[in-house]
This record gives sequence, C-alpha cells and structure tokens, in this order.
Amino acid sequence: MPATRVVVNIPGEDAYNVRVGAGVLDALGSSMRGVPVLADARQVLVITDANVGPLYLARAKASLAQAGYRVSDICVPAGEEAKSLTVLGEVLEPMAALALERDCVVVALGGGCVGDLAGFAAATYMRGVQVVQVPTTLLSMVDSSVGGKTGVNLSAGKNLVGAFKQPAFVCADTEVLATLPPREWACGCGEVAKTALIDGDEFFFWLSDQASAVVDRQPDAVSEAIARCVVFKADVVAQDKTESRGVRECLNYGHTLAHAIEKISGYGTYSHGHAVAEGMRFAARMGMRLADMPVELAQAQGQLLDDLGLPELGWEASPAQVLDVMKRDKKARHGQVRFVCLHDVGQWRLQDVADGVILEELEEYFAQ
Ligand code: NAD
Ligand code: MG
Repeated sequence: MPATRVVVNIPGEDAYNVRVGAGVLDALGSSMRGVPVLADARQVLVITDANVGPLYLARAKASLAQAGYRVSDICVPAGEEAKSLTVLGEVLEPMAALALERDCVVVALGGGCVGDLAGFAAATYMRGVQVVQVPTTLLSMVDSSVGGKTGVNLSAGKNLVGAFKQPAFVCADTEVLATLPPREWACGCGEVAKTALIDGDEFFFWLSDQASAVVDRQPDAVSEAIARCVVFKADVVAQDKTESRGVRECLNYGHTLAHAIEKISGYGTYSHGHAVAEGMRFAARMGMRLADMPVELAQAQGQLLDDLGLPELGWEASPAQVLDVMKRDKKARHGQVRFVCLHDVGQWRLQDVADGVILEELEEYFAQ
C-alpha cells in the first residue's frame, strides 16, 4: 500500500501533514525540505530514547543528512522516566551548548514519552522552535503525535506542566512497528478501539472485521487503522485545539476508570491502552444505565476488545477507593465524576454521574 497523507488543519495554526506508510522514515529529510517552515532550516536535533535510538536513529540521521541538515542527537531514558523536569533540563542545556538557533528543528524519534518531552522542549527553547514528530509506537502514531499536547510530569501527577505545540510534520513509518513489544502493541490497540467507537459505524465495523489482521500486524490493515485514527483525531483537534470547547472530551472515552486503574494498581502494572479498554467496558455499563446504550453495542464492543487482544483485566480494588481516586482526577470538576457515554457508535455525551450510582455499578462490576 502506498503511503497515505492526512492533513491536519487547525484554525490559527499552520496546516501540517501526517505521512503514514512503510519506509517513510527513509524519506524524512526530503519530506521536511518540502515543508515551508522547515525548508530553510540548517540544524536538526533528534531526540530519541535508549530503546529506539539503537534501532532507528541511524536511518533517521542518514535521511536528514542526505537532505542537507546538520544533525545532532540526544538520547533520553526510555519510558515515562523521560518526562521529567530533570530530563527536560538535560535536553535544553545541550541545545544551548550546541548553539542551536531559533530556526533549528527538533525531531522527536520515539513513542509518546519522547514526543511529549521533545515537543515541550521545542515549545520552550528560545520561546519556541519547530518540532517534527516521528512516532514509533502504535499509541504515538494514532494518538500522541497529532494534536499538539506536550509536557512532562511532576511528582504530584502526570502531564502537569506542558504546552500546546503543533508539529510541523508527522512521519509515521509503519515498518518500525515490527520491533514493538506485544504489550505496547496491545496498548495502542486500546486507543484504536476507543477511536473506532467514538468515530462511527464505518470505522467500528471495519475494525471489527479487521481485528485479527490488526493483531497480526498485517501492514495494510495497520496503515489503514492508523490513518483512520489520525483523520478522526485531526478533525476533533481542529474543532477544539486547546480542549476548551468540550469536543475533545470524547477522546477520554474509557479514560475515567482507566486513570483510576493505573493509579491504584501502580503505573505500568497494566498498559494505558489495556486500562482504557477496561474503562470502555465499564463506561458501557454507565452508557446502558444512563445513556440508552443498546446492550448489543456493549456486547459488540466487548467482542472487539477481546478480538484485539485486550481481555478483561480481572483487577481488584474496593469500590470506595476507586470512587475516591476518580473524584480526585484532574478530569473531574470539583469532585464531580464524569463519564463519556455512548448511546450509539459515534454518538457520545459527557455524563455527570452521582457517587451512589458509580458505587453501585462498581459493586456489580467487581462482583462478576
Ligand atoms: P513510550 O514512549 O514509553 O514507548 C513505549 C516503549 O516502547 C518504550 O520503552 C520505548 O522505548 C519502546 N519503543 C518505542 N518505539 C519502539 C519500537 N518501534 N520498537 C521497539 N521499542 C519501541 O510509550 P507510548 O505508549 O508511546 O506513549 C506513552 C506516553 O504518551 C505517556 O506519557 C502519555 O502521557 C503520552 N500521551 C500523550 C498524548 C498527547 O496527546 N500528547 C496522548 C496520549 C498519550
Ligand atoms: Mg489515552
């Protein structure tokens, strides 16, 4: 399948392309030369992590050098550890030491952690330089590389410092997904399933049909799934750039319980996407009770998650503890817990749910 191009056109921002396909990493440099705001740049800094660097840094650098960019690189720790103020400093100081100027370009080569850190470094270095996202996980291709949210964690919580910084270009090479560990693959599948449910019938039926091809990482199915997710996210972000209009809330489908699962069981115990899948199962209970979600849809969703390799978690906690964590989540407003509920595929609403109702549903959920 040839590479696909999705245009992200956000009001008030330069439009940018997301290029999805096998082998597009080798054309990174020439693609960047075709982007007006990157065309005249001379210096490029590639930020990558300790797992991705040994696998793909040489290819990225070769392509950039061939396009005439002077390339430096910085390697940060893999995973969430990279998203700290300490590591941010360890990126910004060398940027200054390398004498990177205002027209330099930061290239984020890695998963969502590298993307969030490098995007934030680019947003703040000299009050903002261009950033190119080169996502290497399924999650970062379908979710974090598009939309412009960047940032790092504080000890008080995740993503508490950050900036909106749209990339100038996104290069999603599906070939690099071959080396992604199974757990990270399943993690991305959770967000793909979420997107299909909130997008609409066409994506949902397509994904239900193609679930085993996606699980087996068949290239055409994977490219199409990524492109569909990017089209959807681009549309949502174009309507609600800074998460202030309520449109972007739909992206939190499944996330109310997911955040509680991650917090209570300890971050990393379950992958984020798997927690989201479990959260979608719980959100379906809320949907059936409060939003007329048909039971057939809840069943079809459950089947899709099973087929994507995201079985029920079987985790344990007390309902009171889960509710307590939900009420403290930064998505809750003044302790009011909200769920994105579906009444049909692609038809969602943000539902305030009373504590007593949540507790009842949690009792039933854990009793099963
Ligand atoms: P990650 O960046 O930690 O990557 C997962 C693991 O896979 C890491 O160990 C990484 O080194 C490794 N890896 C990456 N690509 C690989 C490849 N091709 N082959 C082999 N190994 C590879 O995790 P992630 O799931 O990509 O991103 C999670 C982060 O994204 C979280 O911090 C989350 O908050 C953030 N996020 C941001 C947004 C946003 O809009 N900015 C959206 C969703 C999630
Ligand atoms: Mg998520």
